[in-house]
Amino acid sequence: MIKKIGVLTSGGDAPGMNAAVRAVVRAGITHGLEVYAIYDGYRGLYEGKIERMYRKSVSEKLNRGGTFIGTARLPEFKYEEVREVCIENLHEYGIDALVCIGGDGTYHGALELTKMGIYCIGLPGTIDNDISGTEYTIGFDTALSTIVDAVDKLRDTSSSHRRCSIVEVMGRNCGALAIHAGIAVGAEIVICAETGYNEEEVIKTVCEAAKSKRHCIIIVSEHTIDIKALEQAINERTPFNARTTVLGYIQRGGSPTPRDRILASTMGVKAVEELLAGNGGTCICEVEGKLKAVPIEEALNQKRDQVSEKYREFKELW
Ligand code: ADP
Repeated sequence: MIKKIGVLTSGGDAPGMNAAVRAVVRAGITHGLEVYAIYDGYRGLYEGKIERMYRKSVSEKLNRGGTFIGTARLPEFKYEEVREVCIENLHEYGIDALVCIGGDGTYHGALELTKMGIYCIGLPGTIDNDISGTEYTIGFDTALSTIVDAVDKLRDTSSSHRRCSIVEVMGRNCGALAIHAGIAVGAEIVICAETGYNEEEVIKTVCEAAKSKRHCIIIVSEHTIDIKALEQAINERTPFNARTTVLGYIQRGGSPTPRDRILASTMGVKAVEELLAGNGGTCICEVEGKLKAVPIEEALNQKRDQVSEKYREFKELW
């Protein structure tokens, strides 16, 4: 039976990570466990940055963005000898198991530790909503809401000046943020990995929009196209003046939305229950509105076509 557990946040930060840490700490203490925070992800685990948490340690954290226990990257964590040092550090404190909050890189690390005897449960903390197995990740809803707020403002000024706004959003390998934002703001065009890109079609759509509208919104996922080249093509070949806005890191910050707070809190409770049931190497997923624990390998190998499906719905709205 486990007695002491640790919690860490790793990879890119996401709003709601604090709510998840708080839930793990509070649920763990409620079940009679000692709970420890590992600062700065696997790097802090390697460096032995470990501190015991109490109920009060997580007071007034629920509504805060970022992660108060820090996050960092440690590429060397893939080496067994590095993980052995981490396990020695955990043994020093008598910590038997961990909750690891992060993206799929964090999940791989959690799986490797589980194979070496430290049972880990993964929680999906990333704004990109790019973890297969779960329909929603902690932080996605807040980032989406930040994007929608920013694009609504850009639309106001675009309409005044008869401009085309090209807005770059995060989500390098996954267009979930771009497509959901596209639906929520009524964008004319979304460009991301799932949609593909055809400049001629984009120009045609922008020209079509110019016949009846004073604005045109194009949402682009980062690293998918040469955004400056698109801006130039719109300026040269359509009646619109194009302006590019890169939203950048503001998408990562901010107080989590109620949905993210609830998702993070309930997932944190579920992770502790999983550890108490003697399980490890699983991650908590939301599937059709319900939380369930799924083996990490199985979750990471699942096909993810929900983003492409959403794009079909977006296109119906044009
Ligand atoms: P995310 O968790 O958001 O995907 P990263 O890909 O940066 O972010 O992964 C976070 C950390 O997880 C890395 O810095 C590394 O310590 C650990 N990690 C990533 N991939 C692996 C792997 N294949 N094996 C072991 N640890 C890994």
